Parts: sequence; C-alpha cells; structure tokens
Amino acid sequence: LLAVLRLGHRPFRDKRVTTHVCLVARAFGAEKVILTTRDDALVKSVRGAAKRFGGDFEVEVDERGHRPILAAWKKQGGVVVHLTMYGEPFQDVLPKLREASDVLVVVGAEKVPADLYQLADHNVAVGNQPHSEVAALALALHTLRPHALDAPREGGLRIEPHPRGKVVRGAGQGEGPSR
Ligand code: SAM
Repeated sequence: LLAVLRLGHRPFRDKRVTTHVCLVARAFGAEKVILTTRDDALVKSVRGAAKRFGGDFEVEVDERGHRPILAAWKKQGGVVVHLTMYGEPFQDVLPKLREASDVLVVVGAEKVPADLYQLADHNVAVGNQPHSEVAALALALHTLRPHALDAPREGGLRIEPHPRGKVVRGAGQGEGPSR
C-alpha cells in the first residue's frame, strides 16, 4: 500500500492545497490519503472526483494525530517517509523504496511536529529549498511509482489525449469531442 499522510490541515486556509495533495496523491499512484483534521466538504469533493475518474482511492480521516498513525504503520512493517526540505536527496533514497510493500509519505502544512524527524524512517528532500507539499509530493510519488501517471483507472471517465479540445469517454459522456 502506498499512502499519503497530510498533517496540519487548517480548514479555512488549506482547503485548496489539501485538495491538491489528495488529487496528486491519487493521480501519481497512492492508494490512500489520511487526513488528521476533519473537513467534510473537502473529503466529499475528493471522493467525488475519485469516483468520477475511476480506480480505487480512499480518503481516511484519523484525528488521533501523527504518533499513533505512524506507530501503527511501522508496527505492520511499513516504511515512513517524511518530505522536508531539511532531508536527504529524494533521488538517493526513494528509488530504493520502490519494492517496499507499504510506504507512507508524510507532508506538512505549517510547521510539522518536531518529533516527526525522529519518528520517520527517512527524512527526504525534493531539493533543499522551501517550496510546496504539492510539488514535493508529485516528485516523490513519481519516483516511487514511475508508471502510475499513465495507468488506466477502472470504471471512470477516460480522457483521450487530443492536441486541441477535450475528448472524454465513458460514464455517459458520449463519444464526440465535447467543449
Ligand atoms: N516551514 C515549514 C516547516 O519548516 O516545516 C514547511 C512549510 S511547507 C509550505 C509545507 C510542506 O511542504 C512541508 O511540511 C513539506 O512536507 C513540504 N515541502 C516544502 N518544501 C519541501 C522540499 N524542499 N522538500 C520536501 N518537502 C518539502
């Protein structure tokens, strides 16, 4: 299982970024995202998008906080990767984890809890400059699952690549280009 843990979501400030964390998680090959803050509207919108576009993607809310979540993950043999600009280069660490059966990728919003650096198995940087959890997550997941972006998703809308216009097939969208 490849999963993403989103820490520190502030419902009024982070709605868009956390939504993007979820959509990037799904599009780049994670099977699940865990949110530690309840935000029903956000969960509903991500589940809606995941259903429309097919495949299996789970959104879980676990308000216990990072410690029990990480402890449970590690107890079942899973690896915890914390994305932070202070970490080791992702190009060195993540290719070695491609075969690991359970990887939890952790991203923060504001400042992350200090003990996360100790609790994680790997602190991994996507460059050592400050930028965005969305960008860091995309590159990290793409390194862990290089083929996920192109993988077809069962039972949802399918976009047919087209040089101009929008061609969408499936789920009652008709066959012709739609604008
Ligand atoms: N200033 C905060 C801190 O010191 O923890 C980080 C804020 S940053 C906008 C939010 C999240 O983006 C971080 O928790 C981290 O997961 C991710 N992030 C930002 N830059 C990164 C980088 N260069 N490499 C990996 N992750 C990064």
